[in-house]
Amino acid sequence: MAAWESLRVDIARLRNDIETLSKIGRAPDGALTRHAFAPAYEEARRWLKGRMEEADIPSRDDAAGNTIGHVGAADGPVVMSGSHIDTVPDGGPLDGAFGVLSALECARVIRAANLSAPRGFEPVAFIDEEGRFLDCMGSKAMAGRLDMNEVAHAKDPNGGSLGDAMRQAGFDLEKIGKAKRKKGDIAAYIELHIEQGPVLEAKGMPIGVVEGIVGIDHSDFVFKGEPDHAGTTPMDMRKDAFTGAAEFAYKARRMALKRGTPLTRITYGIVKSKTAAANIVPPEIYMRQELRDIDQKLLKRLVKASYRLADKVAAEHRLTVTHEHISGNTSALMAPRVQDMIEGAAKALGLGSHRMPSGAGHDAQVMARVADAGMIFVPSEGGRSHRRDEWTDWKLLEQGANVLLQSILRLMHAA
Ligand SMILES: [Zn+2]
Repeated sequence: MAAWESLRVDIARLRNDIETLSKIGRAPDGALTRHAFAPAYEEARRWLKGRMEEADIPSRDDAAGNTIGHVGAADGPVVMSGSHIDTVPDGGPLDGAFGVLSALECARVIRAANLSAPRGFEPVAFIDEEGRFLDCMGSKAMAGRLDMNEVAHAKDPNGGSLGDAMRQAGFDLEKIGKAKRKKGDIAAYIELHIEQGPVLEAKGMPIGVVEGIVGIDHSDFVFKGEPDHAGTTPMDMRKDAFTGAAEFAYKARRMALKRGTPLTRITYGIVKSKTAAANIVPPEIYMRQELRDIDQKLLKRLVKASYRLADKVAAEHRLTVTHEHISGNTSALMAPRVQDMIEGAAKALGLGSHRMPSGAGHDAQVMARVADAGMIFVPSEGGRSHRRDEWTDWKLLEQGANVLLQSILRLMHAA
């Protein structure tokens, strides 16, 4: 057994960091909000860099605003781990922060152990994962996946521009392209995160090994008929947009269950009728379809099939229908070798693990385009997240951080 296999995180130190960071951006009413580049975020950034400095870990901010530390081998491809320290409005103390602070803790342990591993290690805090301006902006900048036209016009919900926010924080939007890392720079990326769902808790499993992160497609449908009198128009002479839309939604669900996988999700979360009268045959129904799947090709096929199905059902009801792709998020598979390493690290620590997909988006989804990526989940109490009472027991957090440390060490020593 190599000496590094007995290295463990210091949970007291990690706990202190989690508790301290959870106070930065905390309003008097208890709400925790750190939006990318906002004063609370910049305070958190300075604090994070201060913690690295105390541990003798050099750190830097890249041109996009990501904060990166470095320990171990000075040259060659690095192993990278992190997440984000921005939050949703009134967010929780663990989403993102747990992954960044665990990576910091791993860097401290690795720094103190003075390893001679062939690969260096970099803890990272990616900017704007939660999308004040652009979803996963920091990881996209590092992976060279930013749409520069989107960057130039990016605004937050209050209309503030990305350029202004960056300038106030001491960054320059014009230089954002410099954050891109060269191909081969990052040998592997691994992210530790709370599950934000109920599966691990229900299974009594301490560790989740993420197999892939789902892709998402949003499409809008508008069914159009005629606004006839609900009393005088016979049933067989109507052009009832709602009945057509309802039959479509029902059949689309059946189609997704039949042609999809157990991971396929189809949802009509927004349905609106143009009229709001009980005595008019509904002439126009708008609905937004959300389709999710881990298999990007299957996702595309299902979206197309839903469009064809809408055309067919609309014709049967003598309606017209339009369908339009609105936005999307490409799915990403985690590297099998990283999954195996996480599973092996958990096993060596005497911990059970469960392979599972991630239904939520993460920076690992972006980093998977440029590096072998992996993700570790720990259970979320009651499956709760993106709210102030999101929580995970300290013991489970410690176990997750140790699986991260041992996985990083395996990747640093892998040829
Ligand atoms: Zn997160």
